[in-house]
Amino acid sequence: MTDTRFYQVAVQSPLRRLFDYLPPVDTDSALEPGVRVTVPFGKREVTGIVVSNTASSDYPVDKLKPISAVLDKTPLIPPVLFDVLLWAARYYQHPLGDVLATALPTLLRKGGDLPQQSFWRLSTHGKGLPDNALRRAPSQQALLQLLQQHDCLSKEALAAAGVNTATIRSLKNKELIESFNTTISGQSFDPNGELDILAEKPLTLSTDQQKALEQVELHAYHSYLIDGETGSGKTEVYLQAIANGLRYGKQALVLIPEINLSPQTLARFQARFNCPIALIHSGLSERQRLEAWWAAASGSAGIIIGTRSAAFVPMKSPGIIIVDEEHDSSFKQQEGFRYSARDVAVMRANREKIPLLLGSATPSLESLYNCQQQRYRHISIKGRHGGAVQAAWQLVDIRHSQLNTGFSQTVIEAMSTQLAEGNQILVFLNRRGFAPTLMCHDCGWVANCKHCDAHLTVHTNRPGLHCHHCESRQALPSTCPECRSEQLNYLGQGTERSEATLQALFPDTIVHRVDRDSTGNKHAMEELLAHINKNEACILVGTQMLAKGHHFPGVTLVVVLDADTSLFSTDFRALEKMGQLITQVAGRAGRGAKPGVVMIQSHHCEHPVFELLSQHSYAKFAQHILQERQFSAMPPYTNAALIRAEFHQGGEALGLLQRARAFLESQMPSSPVLRYLGPFPAAMEKRGGRYRYQLTLIGTERRDLHQLLGRLSYWLEQDKSARKVRWSIDVDPQDTI
Ligand code: ADP
Ligand code: ZN
Ligand code: ZN
Repeated sequence: MTDTRFYQVAVQSPLRRLFDYLPPVDTDSALEPGVRVTVPFGKREVTGIVVSNTASSDYPVDKLKPISAVLDKTPLIPPVLFDVLLWAARYYQHPLGDVLATALPTLLRKGGDLPQQSFWRLSTHGKGLPDNALRRAPSQQALLQLLQQHDCLSKEALAAAGVNTATIRSLKNKELIESFNTTISGQSFDPNGELDILAEKPLTLSTDQQKALEQVELHAYHSYLIDGETGSGKTEVYLQAIANGLRYGKQALVLIPEINLSPQTLARFQARFNCPIALIHSGLSERQRLEAWWAAASGSAGIIIGTRSAAFVPMKSPGIIIVDEEHDSSFKQQEGFRYSARDVAVMRANREKIPLLLGSATPSLESLYNCQQQRYRHISIKGRHGGAVQAAWQLVDIRHSQLNTGFSQTVIEAMSTQLAEGNQILVFLNRRGFAPTLMCHDCGWVANCKHCDAHLTVHTNRPGLHCHHCESRQALPSTCPECRSEQLNYLGQGTERSEATLQALFPDTIVHRVDRDSTGNKHAMEELLAHINKNEACILVGTQMLAKGHHFPGVTLVVVLDADTSLFSTDFRALEKMGQLITQVAGRAGRGAKPGVVMIQSHHCEHPVFELLSQHSYAKFAQHILQERQFSAMPPYTNAALIRAEFHQGGEALGLLQRARAFLESQMPSSPVLRYLGPFPAAMEKRGGRYRYQLTLIGTERRDLHQLLGRLSYWLEQDKSARKVRWSIDVDPQDTI
């Protein structure tokens, strides 16, 4: 026997520590890390996960309580994934209990069972019967004989054998048969290696695709950045790389930004493969989520496609991880456990010793930098399939020009020409609602949110004033609350207004709006896509939703209405994001037989980023921005972390961060390799009724930074005022630094 006397258990709690327990009283076999247990915690019993065991505890033994119950015979989280989770908790400075919980569906987190299947078998009484005992009731007799031939049969197997539920009920009432539940076996998707994995013939690869596929080593870790514009055939490379693993019984994990946005991609996976595919995303019920999770964990699904949190789903025999649209900011969780699913995938592939494919038409600067550092291999796929040629770019200088609610004459004329030829047009504007500001013409009053430092947005579709930051809503006033004037003006435009303007300009054309408000449910988006795919002339106007994953073969003109906002943003990533977005939107044009045109309206057409982008080279643009980052010693050349604090009264939150900075400087003084910025007010100081501040750490040595953050989180947990102020640590933040 081991001399284990204490188990260290992770429990979901805001504290960054483990809790010691004595072994359960009724069992003396050792518990492996990753096993779920029930433990007394304060006045409650909670589900926790065993992390480790020790021979000594820092707590008095007589204060410790035993584990109440052991829920699993074998760990639900396999050892390699468990290590990745331990790493993630350290790296992101987040409580381990919470991090481990991310890897489990809610039902398991609450202590529930793995998916069960019910079976029927003969009871002791039934076993004693001769096989013709029920000859007067032939269907009951048949069931009796069936169960005499098999030890037990599942509900589904009985149904398949033509046994109806009435027959089952009769034998049950006679106490001849009994049911029992057991965990669904989760047999591998290809237990004997005989399955014909492919349901359809793969495409013949182009030279670039072939080269890409050949570079991917299947049995070792490496990260590959697959860089190719939309339509260049990246997905086809993923499909074939996945097939190469499936043939050896290896599973594939595919992470995508948002599941509703890519029905076309899903359909392609389903058409290609014979094996089960598990989908993991936020739209699932708890039961469905558990089943999808188990399909991955037990190995019955060959392919797992999921959004961010699927980065932590266990796999029986992982073979490859793919992160599609790796630049997409939705891979970063922005609250609670603030992890980047892309970066977790890199670490996971490394520990699992399997390849990782990161795909994008507009790679993140982080990934390009990692290629420069030779941490990732850079694979380019050139050209587009189906003869589609690259779109031509046209910058439209709107200085001094008369705009019709945001549209220049040049753009309106180009739109008429395209519509006359029966083409589709995509108008991109990254602002929802009708108008971002409501102002009184007589006294200058502006409708502001009471809870945020922000204007309220006018919506006409579900009429009212909406705050896009705290989601509060109010009725649209008919007169100015200050001076009673009826002269209330709508300033600026959002997608609803552009939709109305376009409808007025082109009354005979259908205008579809695509944004969070118009595509609230999944079917709305599917219907819309089906409509668009009919290829009739129409105009699509929408937000960045339009830039994600869709295939719009009939679109020949893309209009970017307002490209200027990002040029002067305080967010150091704004330019990068703008370049990615415009390139992605442009990539939607001319995918079919007709060439596309991209028109960008700006007051700053001479800005170097437009020149670089319009020469149709995202790569050149990215190099330019990377150089700027190097020059200013910003990520990815350095490592950043953000300490945020917010409270109903500003002073408390600011004070906490000031003391945090003093603490940090006492640990490691500021120097050229470690800079402290702030504390400063957040870009929007007041939001949802709270005053928000942030302190930034930028360091050249990741190790130093992490050591420091570890000490800081401990310090914050001990600090009295930190208990009421809401604080968080964000490692590798996406937002403003
Ligand atoms: P990406 O993922 O880079 O946007 P896809 O793999 O979706 O590109 O390919 C775009 C289109 O080109 C798809 O319709 C796909 O079926 C087609 N395609 C991709 N590779 C080939 C190929 N080797 N031969 C013929 N068509 C291809
Ligand atoms: Zn007024
Ligand atoms: Zn608000």
